[in-house]
Amino acid sequence: MPKLVNLTLSPKHASDAKFYTPLVARELRIKESDIALLRIVKRSVDARRGALKVNLSFEAYIDNEEQPAPLHFDYPSAVGKPEIIIIGAGPAGLYCALRLIELGYRPILFERGKEVVERGKDIAKIQRNQGVNPDSNYAFGEGGAGTFSDGKLFTRSKKRGDYNRALQRLVFHGASPEILYEAHPHIGSDRLPRIIANMREAIRTAGGEVHFEKRVEELIVRNGRVEGVIAGGDKVEARAVVVATGHSARDIYYMLHRSGVRLEAKAYAMGVRIEHPQQLINNIQYHRSAEMEYLPAASYSLVAQVGGRGVYSFCMCPGGFIVPALTDESESVVNGMSPSHRNSPYANSGFVTEIREEDFAHFQERYGALAGLVFQQQLEQAARAQAPELQKAPAQRVADFVAGRKSVSLPKCSYVPGIVESRLDEWLPQFMSSRLREAISVFDKRMRGYLTNEAVVVGVESRTSTPVRIPRDRETLQHPEVAGLYPAGEGAGFAGGIISAALDGERIAEAIDCTIS
Ligand SMILES: Cc1cc2nc3c(=O)[nH]c(=O)nc-3n(C[C@H](O)[C@H](O)[C@H](O)COP(=O)(O)OP(=O)(O)OC[C@H]3O[C@@H](n4cnc5c(N)ncnc54)[C@H](O)[C@@H]3O)c2cc1C
Repeated sequence: MPKLVNLTLSPKHASDAKFYTPLVARELRIKESDIALLRIVKRSVDARRGALKVNLSFEAYIDNEEQPAPLHFDYPSAVGKPEIIIIGAGPAGLYCALRLIELGYRPILFERGKEVVERGKDIAKIQRNQGVNPDSNYAFGEGGAGTFSDGKLFTRSKKRGDYNRALQRLVFHGASPEILYEAHPHIGSDRLPRIIANMREAIRTAGGEVHFEKRVEELIVRNGRVEGVIAGGDKVEARAVVVATGHSARDIYYMLHRSGVRLEAKAYAMGVRIEHPQQLINNIQYHRSAEMEYLPAASYSLVAQVGGRGVYSFCMCPGGFIVPALTDESESVVNGMSPSHRNSPYANSGFVTEIREEDFAHFQERYGALAGLVFQQQLEQAARAQAPELQKAPAQRVADFVAGRKSVSLPKCSYVPGIVESRLDEWLPQFMSSRLREAISVFDKRMRGYLTNEAVVVGVESRTSTPVRIPRDRETLQHPEVAGLYPAGEGAGFAGGIISAALDGERIAEAIDCTIS
């Protein structure tokens, strides 16, 4: 068993193994040379008051002691095994496929987008204002929506599955083992693509199929049971179909609605991206400490209740970039990402407020369960109308947004396609803009300097979660009225984030195994 040691150190000393290793040895009353392996298992910065401190928890392995080995994942041959169709190669679809192989099934995966390297080229085109491929972009393509992202791996839903095993699977496919013990693990947009490609190769090597640029257009449903799909014009049959298409696949929701598959409208959240200079956030969070240079780019997480609704920061990307996450040129949609070193000079975060069913009740009669989706789409189109030129996005300085006045100029911004001055305070729906503006003033009391004209809001952050749920039976996880149809991941309304979607995909594989075997 490793020995556990906790130390509280200055940022400089906490970054120096030559300094802390002898301290650990002294705590354990052993010689430094007796330590065979020293791992930091938890690291947190205490910036509450006075001098900055870093709390470190170590695991020390002493000579001859058995050291931890990464988990090995065994993927047996899937050839000749019962076939299961999975729509979507995001985290839910990929983890579902790998778990199905482990359980003795042959996954057939259809992905509308391109494999990850080719997808990267289409994303570069979006950044250069050279147009948006509606099937290959920040939301669609191998690896799903989070592939070109910060790759934050934190989830609040650890109870839904084996969180540690999900991380171990990433390590097995090429992620750094550090993600297993970091308090807030993240991979980085520069490293995720290789890991995703390794997962795809594991599926193919085991005998599963992965098809790119094959969009599923229809489900084949007969007598209340799904029998297969039409993908790229071809009819393909299988024992079960997993719908893991994410929350941007509006055509899938429309197709299900048209086919009479019951969907449900749900509450979600929308708002803007807010971006500050990273140095400003570091100064606020680290109190201008002389030792800031030894600490990572600072982050924040803020929540307030305004007018009876939650307003909160979401998916904060320290040292990151705002990215164009649109799937259609008629929309402006932004999101955020960071490279693994989180070293850009900008700190951006989603900044959103709850959208409840009462907010889109006026669409209910006409669009039924899709009312929230239509409301979301209209906001994205309203944002595009403000910045009609290619992939540019509407923006306003933060203090101007709060004060309700035009920005006469805009600050530098990480959003590569470019930002355009616009009165977000005026054209965002009033119930959203008033809450967002008030919340910024509330947040400024907690982080002095947050409300500043050095910062900018960019529109719109509209794809935080799905406005539509595809219901499923609690026990079997199948759609209550369509046997063999398994809604999975974020698009079905059962996950929010990379790891929770991955865990949901595994859960679906296990539910299929229970029902079919
Ligand atoms: C820029 C960005 C940054 C993000 N950063 C983070 C982060 O740091 N941490 C985090 O936890 N989460 C992050 N997220 C959210 C995260 O990516 C999602 O929660 C997660 O990917 C959802 O997984 P999923 O498998 O359910 O769906 P998705 O990842 O959306 O995957 C769905 C897949 O289905 C495919 N598809 C859709 N329709 C069809 C069809 N008709 N036929 C075939 N294929 C289809 C799509 O192309 C896509 O690849 C980010 C998202 C974005 C856009």
